[in-house]
Amino acid sequence: MSKAVRIGKIFIGGGNPITIQSMTNTDTSDVERTIQQIKMLQEAGCDIVRVAVPDFDSAKAIKSIKDHIDIPIVADIHFDHRLAIEAIKSGADKIRINPGNIGEDWKIEELVKVAKEFQIPIRVGSNIGSLRKEFESRYDRTTALAESALYEVRLLERLEFFDIVISVKSSDVIETIKANEYIVQRVDYPIHLGITEAGIYETSIVKSSVGIGYLLLKGIGDTIRVSIAGDPIREIYIARKLLVSLHLRKGGQVIACPTCARSEIDVEEIAKSIETLVENTDLTVAVMGCVVNGIGEGRHADIGIAGTKGGAAIFKEGRIIKTVKKEYIYDELLNLIKKSRS
Ligand code: SF4
Repeated sequence: MSKAVRIGKIFIGGGNPITIQSMTNTDTSDVERTIQQIKMLQEAGCDIVRVAVPDFDSAKAIKSIKDHIDIPIVADIHFDHRLAIEAIKSGADKIRINPGNIGEDWKIEELVKVAKEFQIPIRVGSNIGSLRKEFESRYDRTTALAESALYEVRLLERLEFFDIVISVKSSDVIETIKANEYIVQRVDYPIHLGITEAGIYETSIVKSSVGIGYLLLKGIGDTIRVSIAGDPIREIYIARKLLVSLHLRKGGQVIACPTCARSEIDVEEIAKSIETLVENTDLTVAVMGCVVNGIGEGRHADIGIAGTKGGAAIFKEGRIIKTVKKEYIYDELLNLIKKSRS
């Protein structure tokens, strides 16, 4: 098991629940817009949020942002260690740096001194695009990825800093899996899992589900980010679904049949219309196109509907409890879900 590291009010690692992370895409120094996006992320289920800190205005903005949000904030810094120090002093709960691009040892030493003083953990790690040159020629890509991350870990350890989170990410699923397996055989710091530059929506869902899902099932990984190009809120929805489907987090789900020539209702539309509502429950709701197979197939659901000629049969635990006309299907489902929640 990994050791636990505290990020603000949350612990990651050490057997604590897997947390979901995302990153804002607003200008961090635009405090109002950044707060607004973080609130939306939080409402969607984000546990820890990361913001880019490219300049001092952004580092200083963390102080004002923190006053308005309830989740830990991670400052993402490249190149300038002074930005990391400023971010810590402004209240960042974790720092994400790449020591390799911070430069001279004394700069790392200065940063580590402040991180120790404020008891702020540091995430280090490597992406496939930022491998250390000497490792690229010495190892295969996967080992170079993992060794680049371990090099950074050892830098911090030499300074007697152990409040570390590690990430090793590639846009290639297999490389990410193998590099993380390599890491956990050698150190016990908590692991931040993700497929980097995973791509646009559908591509990222597939890659992240396979890569993150595989590792989590093997007991590897303590916090996750599903990286999707575009609106970060979608990252949270997918991450939640991923954890729920692995039984690592409670949450409701809508199961729906793929439809066929027997379907009597618009399964996709009905399933979509109730999905958000169901997600915040512990219910499984089945939306099935017909009664021929639907009731049997959906019998494990807490609530289900199966299409009939004139509307739908509502069933609970495999038994029909009533039938409704087509125009009342949504209202009926809504009522049943609300009743089951209360
Ligand atoms: S539940 Fe009915 S409509 Fe849906 S796939 Fe099965 S047979 Fe077809």
